Amino acid sequence: MAKSRTWVMVEPGKLDARELEIPKVADDSALLKMEASGICGTDKHVFLGHFPFVKFPFIAGHEFIGTIVEMGPRASENMIVYGGPLKVGDRVAVAPGSAGCGKCFFCLHVPENPGLCLNRSIVYGFTPLNREHGLWGGYSDYVYLLPRTYIFKLPADMPMKKAILIEPAATGARAAQHCFENSYDVGRSVMILGAGPIGMMMLMALRFSGAGLIIVQDLFPERLEMARRMGADVLIDGKRPFDERQKQVKELTSGMGPDIVIEAAGSPSAFREALDLTRRAGKLIEAGNFTDTGNTEIKPFNICYQDLNIVGCRYSPLIFENVITMLQRTPLPIEEVVTHTFPLDEFPKALELTGSKDAGKIVITP
Ligand SMILES: [Zn+2]
Ligand SMILES: [Zn+2]
Repeated sequence: MAKSRTWVMVEPGKLDARELEIPKVADDSALLKMEASGICGTDKHVFLGHFPFVKFPFIAGHEFIGTIVEMGPRASENMIVYGGPLKVGDRVAVAPGSAGCGKCFFCLHVPENPGLCLNRSIVYGFTPLNREHGLWGGYSDYVYLLPRTYIFKLPADMPMKKAILIEPAATGARAAQHCFENSYDVGRSVMILGAGPIGMMMLMALRFSGAGLIIVQDLFPERLEMARRMGADVLIDGKRPFDERQKQVKELTSGMGPDIVIEAAGSPSAFREALDLTRRAGKLIEAGNFTDTGNTEIKPFNICYQDLNIVGCRYSPLIFENVITMLQRTPLPIEEVVTHTFPLDEFPKALELTGSKDAGKIVITP
């Protein structure tokens, strides 16, 4: 029986290279051969044990594209396929979470976001190894696709370095959606805290959807330089004293502060700063802390007195279709966000590099 090379996260801080058997593909399922798998900041946090909802051991990797190499006769009708019936040979992106159960509170009351369902049949990159054959994550030669998976056929000419950004760009698009709800209009000002890959996806989505002034802050000049190439107007060195930075931001925004501030650094202290930077009745979008990175002290007074709107940021898989269009049409050199590619064998080295100042999106190719 054929095997798939994989990297198993055995316990927090421990990786193991294993070869797993590829099972026979069931009638309603499919087998994806990996083309590329993007490393997410979340993967690193999960690896370090910052995510309470995942059970070790498991194969991580939830940002992946590949080719359908095998499928059961009823797979196409049992998957949610964008771009026509599924066929062997299709090059596709896969959303990490499957369709919702259709019956829980969230499916009934928030049907526009199946990502909130508590009973999804699978979430790729976060499912334990001891479930059947274990091939449920992107750091592997193959991923086994179950019924009710969202599959998006890729445009034939979309380069790997764009297609691999679909999943993180969905978070950017979700933030842009939040911007449009009751506080935003074309031309409004936005500040993004954090110029890592997620910050870059925010920049792309905001530029694409008509933001005005965009201010980006980060601790590393290398990352700010990337933000400049992706369309930021003003770059702020986050190492400068807060009072100085706040003064500069106010001067840039008619003395008020930005209409919208997006926390994309994934650091609790950035959230606290965001509370002080957002203008009265403005909106704060918390997009960076998808894992539990700790606490920060805040003054609830600021939220109440300033009449702030604070929202989270979890995309619906349905947004992938729009994100593919955005990636096709953005005038920005967005592929440059992918700074490194490593072969699967060197995954530990790639994970180590993730989040360092020279690293944008790091991609694993078999
Ligand atoms: Zn991710
Ligand atoms: Zn549900």
